[in-house]
Amino acid sequence: KSSAGLMTTKPKNEQEIKDIKVSGRMLASVLDVLKKNTKPNMTTKDLAEIAAKELKSLGGKPAFLGYYGFPDVLCTSVNDEIIHGIPSSKKTLNQGDIVSLDFGVIYNGMITDAAISILLDSNSSRDSFLVKHTETALLKGIDIIKPGIRVGDLSAAIQKVLDKAQLGIVREYVGHGVGHHLHEEPNIPNYGQAGTGAVLLENMTIAIEPMATLGSSQTLVDADGWTVRTKDGSRAAHFEHTVLITKDGPEILTQI
Ligand code: MG
Repeated sequence: KSSAGLMTTKPKNEQEIKDIKVSGRMLASVLDVLKKNTKPNMTTKDLAEIAAKELKSLGGKPAFLGYYGFPDVLCTSVNDEIIHGIPSSKKTLNQGDIVSLDFGVIYNGMITDAAISILLDSNSSRDSFLVKHTETALLKGIDIIKPGIRVGDLSAAIQKVLDKAQLGIVREYVGHGVGHHLHEEPNIPNYGQAGTGAVLLENMTIAIEPMATLGSSQTLVDADGWTVRTKDGSRAAHFEHTVLITKDGPEILTQI
């Protein structure tokens, strides 16, 4: 999504921080349930139904349903699909699939956004390399967070891991500010130059989300208008956390 006209993410006040932490914990717990229950022979719609039910029982609202018309609560992107896959009762999971699950939660108006990639009972060392290094890129990016860093510092830290692993870095889709809206400024690309870009401040909340491929970085959007896949058919992985920037460093809001 283009960020043109989006608001810049604000440092959150005490109440907003309390609420966004609740939102993040709900999200983490839903992704945890999904991670434990994603199995071959299920459909991607089954996963969305689990997510919807689980979030409802926790008292949160789904952030993706209806967002620019997105038709479900969860994005389910399998294998060469990178992001924004639409859950379907016709799409069955198989052993060896990479299943990327992206979820968003609203609690008391505060939004969090996170994603995981799950490798289903695979023996593929290439696929597990992809998944592992994409997650490492996310965690290495998060590691450097403190008030006063620039977006480019974060981008460069993520890029370093993905370049070293010789993975394709998706460029058209990027991380972002988050909180009052699902997508706020600044954009946080997964490639870039240290020392450049917007300065990140204490109490801002950002969603960092490396997307990497085993092939090239080029992408296509399906005829459904949503599903983003690799142009060369290579497999992709996606990990995302919502992070609060504290004076002491990063606080990951979307982990248990
Ligand atoms: Mg996001």
